[in-house]
Amino acid sequence: MRAALAVASECAPLVKTGGLADVVGALPAALAREGWGLRILLPGYREVLAALGEVPVLFEEADLFGGPARLRAGRAAGLELLVLEAPHLYDRGGSPYLDERGHDWPDNPERFAALCWIAARVAAEGAGGWRPEILHLHDWQAALVPVYLRARGVAAPTLLTIHNIAFHGLAPADRLERLRLPAEGFTPEGFEYYGHISALKAGLVHATRLSTVSPTYARELQTPDYGMGLDGVIRARAGHLVGILNGIDTRAWDPATDPAIRPFRSPAGKAANRAALLREFGLGEGEGPLCVVISRLSDQKGLDLLLRALPALTDRGGRLALLGTGDRGLEEAWLRAAEGSDRVAVRIGYDEALSHRMFAGGDAVLVPSRFEPCGLTQLYGLRYGAVPLVALTGGLADTIINANDAALKAGVATGLQVHPLTVDALAAALIRLCELYADRALWARLQRNAMRHPVGWEASAPAYAALYERTIAAAG
Ligand code: ADP
Repeated sequence: MRAALAVASECAPLVKTGGLADVVGALPAALAREGWGLRILLPGYREVLAALGEVPVLFEEADLFGGPARLRAGRAAGLELLVLEAPHLYDRGGSPYLDERGHDWPDNPERFAALCWIAARVAAEGAGGWRPEILHLHDWQAALVPVYLRARGVAAPTLLTIHNIAFHGLAPADRLERLRLPAEGFTPEGFEYYGHISALKAGLVHATRLSTVSPTYARELQTPDYGMGLDGVIRARAGHLVGILNGIDTRAWDPATDPAIRPFRSPAGKAANRAALLREFGLGEGEGPLCVVISRLSDQKGLDLLLRALPALTDRGGRLALLGTGDRGLEEAWLRAAEGSDRVAVRIGYDEALSHRMFAGGDAVLVPSRFEPCGLTQLYGLRYGAVPLVALTGGLADTIINANDAALKAGVATGLQVHPLTVDALAAALIRLCELYADRALWARLQRNAMRHPVGWEASAPAYAALYERTIAAAG
C-alpha cells in the first residue's frame, strides 16, 4: 500500500459539522481500492479521543502553541487515525469551530495551526516509522502545512482540496510570530490577505496542487462572483486546479440495508417510510409531494428564498419537512412558517438518524443553494429516491440531470434544476415538481433513474489516485 496522510478538522462518523466530514471519512475506503493507505490526522477533540481509547503515543511536543501535546495513533470507526492530543486546544465543549454560544473560538488560528505544524513534522520525520508520500490537505484548517514544510526545508508533495472557499481562516497580523509563520511570507504574493494572515491563501499559493469538489465549482472559483476575494489567486493557479466530484459512502447510505429506515430497493418500497415520516413530523396527508430539506441554515443554502416560494408547494397539496440548524434568524423564520401548519414542519437541530429517515420518506429533496461546491444531500436524495430539486450551481449542476422534456423523453432525468435562483423561478420549479409528481408513473420513473444514478466513488477515487501521482511528480 502507498502511504498518504489526510489532514482535516472533521471526519465522519467521529466528528461532523458538514460535508467535509463525510468526504474525509469516505476517502480512505475509496482510495484503498486504488492501492493507497490513508491515515487521517485529526485534532484530539473529546469525542475523537473517546473513540480512540488508550493507544500509543508516537511523539510529543513540549509546547505546541501554549501547552504540551502528544501525537497518538490508533483505529476508530474503521479508520486509521493520527490524533493530536493537546488539551489546551481541543479539550472543551462546543463544536469544532464554535463555542457554546455559537461564536468562533478566539484561538482557532492556533488550534488549526497546531494541526498543520504536526502534519509538517510527520512529513519531515515520520511518526512511529511511518511516513507519507503525499499530504492531502482539506480546507483552511490544513492549509498552513505547505508553509511549515517550506520553513523546515522539506519538499513533501501537498494537495489542497477546497471544500468551501467561504471560510478563509483569517488571523490578525500580530499573530504572525505566535503562529510561527515566516515574516517574509506575509505579503500579498504570499499569505497576507488585506492586512490579515489567511491560512487558506497560504495553501492556495504554496500547495503543490489544488483541487475542489466539482468541475463546475472549479470554474466558478475563478470568477469574482464565487471566488470570495480569492478568485485572482486561484486564476493564477488555474493550471494546477482540478475539480473531482465527491462521492458518498454507499455502504453507510444504502436504502436496502440502512438500519435507520424501513429498507427498500425500489420506489414503491418508500411508501412505509413516507407514511412514518408524515406521522413523525405531524404532517397531514395531501395529494402533493412530501419534500424534505436537510441543511445547515446559512445564507449559502438559499432557504430564505425557499421560504418565500413555499406557497407554490403548499397551495398544491405539497408538504415540507425541514431539519436544520444554524443562523438564528433563519431558524426563527422557519419555525414561524411551521406554526399551526399541517403542511410545513420544522426540526431545529442536528440529527443524523432523522436525516436518513427523511431521505427515505421524502418524495423530493430541495437544495436551492446560492453556491454549492459539491453538495451531498442531493446525492443522498438520488440514492434514496428522493428526487432532488436543485439550483444550477457547483456540484449541484454536475450531479443532476434536469427533467426537461428531452431528458424525460430520453428517460435519463434524475431531478429538477432551477435557474436563475430567484423566488419566482423557485416557485415555478415547485409547481413543475407538483405537476410531475401528479403523473405517478412518470414520478416513479424519475425515482428509479435517481436511485440508479452512480453516486459512489467509482469515478472519483481513480481520479484522486491519478492526482496524487501527478502531485508527487510535480513536487519531485
Ligand atoms: P455543507 O457541507 O455545506 O453543510 P453538504 O451537502 O456538502 O453541505 O453536506 C452536508 C452534510 O451534513 C450532509 O451529509 C447532510 O445530510 C448533513 N446535514 C446537514 N444538516 C444536518 C442536520 N441538521 N442533521 C443531520 N444531518 C445534517
